[in-house]
Amino acid sequence: MKVCLLGAGVTGITTAYAFARDGHDVTVIDRHAHPAAETSFANGGQLSYSYVAPLADPSVLRKLPALLFDRASPLRFRARLDPSQWRWCLAFLAACTRAKSRQTTTELLGLGAYSRALIGELVERERLSFDYARSGKLVLYRDAQAFASARAQMAFQNRLGCDQRAVTPRECVSIEPALAAQTNRLAGGIFTESEASGDCHAFCVSLADTLRDTYGVTFRLDTTIESIRTRHDSVARIETSRGVFEADLYISCLGVGGLPLMDLPKLRVPLYPLTGYSLTVPAFTSAPRVSITDTHHKVVYATLGERLRIAGMVDIGVRGMPFAHAHVADAHVADAHVADARTAVVHDADTRAAQARLRLLLSQAEAFLPGAGAYSQAIPWSGMRPATPSGKPVIGPTPYHKLWLNTGHGALGFTLAAGTAALLADMAAGRTPACDPTAFAL
Ligand SMILES: Cc1cc2nc3c(=O)[nH]c(=O)nc-3n(C[C@H](O)[C@H](O)[C@H](O)COP(=O)(O)OP(=O)(O)OC[C@H]3O[C@@H](n4cnc5c(N)ncnc54)[C@H](O)[C@@H]3O)c2cc1C
Repeated sequence: MKVCLLGAGVTGITTAYAFARDGHDVTVIDRHAHPAAETSFANGGQLSYSYVAPLADPSVLRKLPALLFDRASPLRFRARLDPSQWRWCLAFLAACTRAKSRQTTTELLGLGAYSRALIGELVERERLSFDYARSGKLVLYRDAQAFASARAQMAFQNRLGCDQRAVTPRECVSIEPALAAQTNRLAGGIFTESEASGDCHAFCVSLADTLRDTYGVTFRLDTTIESIRTRHDSVARIETSRGVFEADLYISCLGVGGLPLMDLPKLRVPLYPLTGYSLTVPAFTSAPRVSITDTHHKVVYATLGERLRIAGMVDIGVRGMPFAHAHVADAHVADAHVADARTAVVHDADTRAAQARLRLLLSQAEAFLPGAGAYSQAIPWSGMRPATPSGKPVIGPTPYHKLWLNTGHGALGFTLAAGTAALLADMAAGRTPACDPTAFAL
């Protein structure tokens, strides 16, 4: 079958892999000159298969005042005159029930476990180079109440097959000595030995090379998709800046950038961008080896080879930094955004908001792990998570024949992409999928 993958982010590249391995004739189209130039560029690097509980949780309702008024809150909301923002927010609030949160967690844990197995196999088989490390993940809590609810969540997840353990502050330091200065400030942590980390951008670039060289996949880069033409409830063709493409199956992996293209009469994809930020600094030898989440600020830390990646924050209604898209088109010019996050130039309201968030992220990192990296050389970045209100990706067929989706992975795209890609390939091949894809149907 001729399969056309729209988008070369982590979901597009992994889907290309799953279909190419099944022997399909695969073409990947993307508007940038290199894969993973948008949201998959400088994310938190966590392959956190067991930390999939959705943002839509009853506890968010309690935090609403802080969300609206506290400038330092990890979650911020800026209202826009945009019906899609309000629709998404209402659906999100409706999903903030214990029953829905648990159901989503259960479904995503299944998908996460599947993804973990697939990434493990893929790394073995293809020998990709992306600073992959299976060093475990330690999630830290500073207050006793938050730690108690984390232990309850852990007990729930362990009953579903996770292997997590609660650890004391002293045990946290013995697992990760970089935390020595934090001992007195911690209530405890949850440690998951089987978690991993890696550089998502390098993963995509390395896998794309393998797809080209070993599996004969065609890449049409620097090619902007301008419209998806439909006829009689089917996709007739894709129109791009470099001509027309026709295929037997089109799979949209376009993330947030695809929203205008998905605006088809019979299609409503419940996606909204949730902006987040990251900093990449040269790591010192004292940088943590284990991935860390500081739940107090909701910031993640991962050492990727010789760099420390710090990422976090969820902003609704803030578009992030313009350079996030402009400069990352070419990984080799990514150094162009070497700018001290404290002094970078301010352009407009969105950029100003993003700058403030990056300054906050930088100060939190410097205070939390002061000796971990060269913070004065921080490379700032922002990206927009393609998020659904429930926190579940949307995969599989649409009302249009030949058009499938693989999107909406929110904060878990790197973690879950291999799993959703394989589910789609299973569906196309008529195999029984490893987990129930109807849980993620549009
Ligand atoms: C701050 C931050 C931290 C994160 N940390 C983690 C983490 O630690 N672990 C994790 O698992 N996930 C993390 N995520 C989430 C993860 O990065 C995303 O879920 C994932 O990158 C989404 O991948 P995607 O392929 O769907 O979208 P993208 O990576 O955005 O890919 C979409 C592609 O489509 C292309 N495209 C769009 N429109 C067009 C068009 N019209 N024509 C041609 N091409 C087009 C784009 O160029 C792009 O390459 C984080 C996200 C952020 C913002």
